[in-house]
Amino acid sequence: MWGVWMSNKKSRNLLLLNYFKPSIYLESYEKINLDSLKNSGIKLIMCDMDNTLIGWNERIPSPNVLNFIKNIYSHNMEFVLFSNNIRSRVENFAKKAGITNYFWDCKKPLLGKMKLVKKLFKYKEEEMIIIGDQLVTDVLVANRAHIKSILVSPLSRNKEESKMVQFLEKHILKKLSQKNILHEGFYNEGEIGGNYEIL
Ligand SMILES: [Mg+2]
Repeated sequence: MWGVWMSNKKSRNLLLLNYFKPSIYLESYEKINLDSLKNSGIKLIMCDMDNTLIGWNERIPSPNVLNFIKNIYSHNMEFVLFSNNIRSRVENFAKKAGITNYFWDCKKPLLGKMKLVKKLFKYKEEEMIIIGDQLVTDVLVANRAHIKSILVSPLSRNKEESKMVQFLEKHILKKLSQKNILHEGFYNEGEIGGNYEIL
């Protein structure tokens, strides 16, 4: 009886951990293979801003970011900047990077703005992917919305991030590692038949 309860608890924990499992784990957005995403049927790329495309203490998008955005558009894919940050910072970055679709104050992992994006762009869930550096916001919102995700390593450590988020992020990374689901810094860049190996 006790054993059954324990194993139920264990499988429930594992189930919860799956909510923090990204589809793909890469070192940075620069490693993303857009051809491969396109071949997997992705039409809409949603992307976090801070520490994914730009360090939290920087203001100007790098030439590499500009290239990345251009490359997405030339692949005929839709791009949506999807940030928890405030309007002025998101808007400033988007305009400098030539991004036309951007959302601020998204409150990830809450689903409100995600539902709005789904409604506005009318893509199927399997045609969407979200890129981000945080498990507790970007990956969690993706899994809650049943869309794929790419986790990247943060560009810089965000000192402004709340202690609570930092603590959770570390804790979950440790748990994922213990369960052999994901190990920090061990990226899965491998391609199988032109497609990413989805975790
Ligand atoms: Mg971020």
